[in-house]
Amino acid sequence: MLTRTQQFLSDHPVCCFCGGEAPSEEEDHIPGRDFFKGRHWPEGYSFPACKDCNASTRHDEMLVNVFSRALPLEDSEEQAAEFKRVLTGLKNNFPHILAALQPRANEVRAIIKALGVQRLPGQFLSEMPFLSADHDAVQVSLGRYGLKLGCALFYKHLARLLPKEAGVLVKWQTNVRLSLDGLPEGLVSLTGVPGMLNRGKSILNDQFQYRYGLQDDGNAAVFFIGFRLSLYYSLTCVNDVRQLPEFPPEVRVWRPRDLQKPHLTPAMQR
Ligand SMILES: [Zn+2]
Repeated sequence: MLTRTQQFLSDHPVCCFCGGEAPSEEEDHIPGRDFFKGRHWPEGYSFPACKDCNASTRHDEMLVNVFSRALPLEDSEEQAAEFKRVLTGLKNNFPHILAALQPRANEVRAIIKALGVQRLPGQFLSEMPFLSADHDAVQVSLGRYGLKLGCALFYKHLARLLPKEAGVLVKWQTNVRLSLDGLPEGLVSLTGVPGMLNRGKSILNDQFQYRYGLQDDGNAAVFFIGFRLSLYYSLTCVNDVRQLPEFPPEVRVWRPRDLQKPHLTPAMQR
């Protein structure tokens, strides 16, 4: 008699993240359970992973979680306590990154001008509730997590994994960027409504939802994902990276092998 996990690994024998060469060893929840209120994650969103792939985005996930909760759903004590816990985790492991999330005064000034937001009398720019995603480590973590989301959703909706030749173009937007820049080109034509995501009777679409389009030959898929009303990902996943057009050098196309080694390692303990 197999346990539920053994059964899962026997049904999904290969890690779906690193290109199809590693056997699955663990179940990886994508998005992570910590993204959800009370850790009630949606049913059907666990994926076969090798140990390296499961572990390697643990710290990226911490950062993405902060951005995914930037605009709270409701002002409940539970939500506030969860957000505080996420920030404390970040502070304990990566204090310099936490500090870098505070935007500089001139950035805040530019954002409030662009958004047409009024500052309250006596309010300092540093008190305005914005996060900065400018730090390099933040950019890389958000990109790596986008790759992981792309591998997982491709596996779920095409019932096969992205091979090592695959490429994933990851574009992410904070709620501020989405309202200023609009949807990325090419996604506007996506059809369908987001599927219902639930655990038992709880509907989780207020915390995580997405729409997607699959190419008829099954060689490509696009996903548009929203975390709360806070963080948005647009992902283009192709079976073979050569299907993508040439991009300028500053555009990074992510490859499944990028997940094998962690990107962030916590600060040394004193
Ligand atoms: Zn793997």
